[in-house]
Amino acid sequence: MNTQPEFVDALIVGQGLAGSLLAWELVRRHRRVLIIDPPVGDADRGASRVAGGIVSPLSGRRFTRLAELESLIGSATDIYGEIEEAFRFIVFQECAIWRLLNDDLEVAQLAKRQADPAYAPYLGERHAPGTIGHGLADPRGSVCVRGARVDLPRLLDRLRQFFQDTARLQEEALDYADLQLRGDGLVQWKHVRTRQVIFCEGFRVRQNPWFHWAPVRPSKGEILTVGIRRSLPEGVLNAGKWLIPLGEGRYRLGATYRRDDNDPNPTEAGRRELLDAFRNLFLDPPEVEILSHEAGVRPGKTDHHPVIGRHPAHPQLALFNGLGSRGALLAPHYARLLADNLEKGSPIPRPADAQYWHERQRTATGGD
Ligand SMILES: Cc1cc2nc3c(=O)[nH]c(=O)nc-3n(C[C@H](O)[C@H](O)[C@H](O)COP(=O)(O)OP(=O)(O)OC[C@H]3O[C@@H](n4cnc5c(N)ncnc54)[C@H](O)[C@@H]3O)c2cc1C
Repeated sequence: MNTQPEFVDALIVGQGLAGSLLAWELVRRHRRVLIIDPPVGDADRGASRVAGGIVSPLSGRRFTRLAELESLIGSATDIYGEIEEAFRFIVFQECAIWRLLNDDLEVAQLAKRQADPAYAPYLGERHAPGTIGHGLADPRGSVCVRGARVDLPRLLDRLRQFFQDTARLQEEALDYADLQLRGDGLVQWKHVRTRQVIFCEGFRVRQNPWFHWAPVRPSKGEILTVGIRRSLPEGVLNAGKWLIPLGEGRYRLGATYRRDDNDPNPTEAGRRELLDAFRNLFLDPPEVEILSHEAGVRPGKTDHHPVIGRHPAHPQLALFNGLGSRGALLAPHYARLLADNLEKGSPIPRPADAQYWHERQRTATGGD
């Protein structure tokens, strides 16, 4: 049996997408890493294990594109590609995302974006109303967005297995009282000493005694896995709520969005909302069989940048959080940025910089 090390370069709290990709990046750089995360069967499984894993280059009703989109896609392709190569499986796949246009605002926004060359790699032509077929309702037409999908449960399970096999994962929840900031600059957790603790605990950061001020707001999401007997266009369907094909007539139907709700349990209201949205996708809705119903809490941040970096007063503590609704696209890039910052002091862009957010919070509340 592998035994736990007594000294590590980094102790990572949480094995969601943030903790997993950061750990992967540090291991790749030959750093000694230990992750702490509760057993997978625990009631709250974290957002990453229930997420749809859609990577959409353009989001929302306005087809908004992030300024640093090419870097995000580049890092995602690199890191997911490295993991696929290491474990010889596929988790990252390019796919069509069929946007069913809901109203005139979306039609007008689409026309604006199509006239902008920066959007050309990601947007197809608009299809006329009534042409998508398969019994789908497309009264304003549809458009194909070129995106991708990450099989997050598979990715996390495989990485967890790897971290466990190499004595890099301890299955338990961190009790913050067990962390001791030592006089020599190291941190002690039980019998393990480390140079750096990095908190990747998703929305639970709000309970963190050092980072409770981080600009992270919980937003609950629910998702159904359903069986449908109807052939649909290849790829993801998105009309606000989405359908992701899993094969053999099974789909993931998601997701609800409830800001400031941090209850990780599925609800009857969530189930109804998803089924109503499902019926609205079709002119003649097919029968649907519910195979499972899950919920998770996204670590949301209003400006679509995560929050990363060292604590302003305790540099041996750092944060990787705020991935919001776009973790699959953002996490690889920001895992690299954070690793570079921790190792070489490379700068963090201001909207993602934990120290910037701490200062803002301090000024707003007049405290420290
Ligand atoms: C229904 C739903 C659908 C979504 N769909 C998409 C999508 O299609 N595309 C997309 O990009 N994003 C999607 N998201 C968002 C995505 O899930 C998040 O951006 C991302 O998973 C956040 O990852 P994380 O690692 O920061 O947090 P989490 O995945 O929540 O991970 C936090 C981890 O920390 C652990 N932890 C917490 N406290 C402690 C402690 N004290 N000690 C040890 N461990 C601790 C938890 O157990 C968990 O494993 C969706 C989210 C939901 C809820």
